[in-house]
Amino acid sequence: MIRRIPCAAALLAAGTLACSNPAPPAPGPSASDPARTVWQLSPFALLQAGGYDGLMTVDEVRRHGDLGLAAADELNGEMVMVDGRLYQFLADGRVAEAPGSMRLPFAEVTRWTGGRDIPVAAGQTYGASGMPGMGTLPAGADAFYALRLEGTWDTVVVRTFHQQSRPYPPLDSAVHHQAVDTLINVRGTMAGFWQPAFAKGLSIPGYHLHVLSDDRAKGGHVLSFRAGNVRMQVAERPEFIVHLPPDAIRDVRH
Ligand SMILES: [Zn+2]
Repeated sequence: MIRRIPCAAALLAAGTLACSNPAPPAPGPSASDPARTVWQLSPFALLQAGGYDGLMTVDEVRRHGDLGLAAADELNGEMVMVDGRLYQFLADGRVAEAPGSMRLPFAEVTRWTGGRDIPVAAGQTYGASGMPGMGTLPAGADAFYALRLEGTWDTVVVRTFHQQSRPYPPLDSAVHHQAVDTLINVRGTMAGFWQPAFAKGLSIPGYHLHVLSDDRAKGGHVLSFRAGNVRMQVAERPEFIVHLPPDAIRDVRH
């Protein structure tokens, strides 16, 4: 079931929840076109509450996009999807390509078809307050964007999670024990999203980036970076869909 409601009035409901910008629907591709959509498995609030059991397989998630990010079953690492391949960053530093059968508790993907170039100066920083000096993205702060950054970074501070066991602690406890690494002079690809403040609860407002080094040896959730020679592309997504399997509700009410 798909419920389509204005983004600003997004409500949690069983089934699949979708929201659209209030502008009249334009003729053209279907609203469920992955190249127009940020598709997310499960509301972020359920992951925050300790919903770490896998809900859908990698193969199922891949139907909705080829670029994005995810969390592994039992929170066994952060993940990034680049060109349709999903990589798992384990707390011991290893990187593994996820098999199609792996189940995920959370994922956020889109189909990448290119975007608008946003200049990123060498030395540009990123951190808890976003990218200082960058200004707002092309369609403003209330839009959803897919992001792809490629190039070299002087430093990237990444984190990943340790595998959790039941009873699962909430995410803010798991973050307390996160594994942090600093990548120096790294070449790679970042995938992620920029989402408006009203996405809170359903998703993660502001920038959310995961990185994979070109040699597939390092990566994780990006806590901060200092850019070297970086190409940043952004692509607005007029549709935001949150898929909510019944198991997601049961999982956090165990
Ligand atoms: Zn993340």
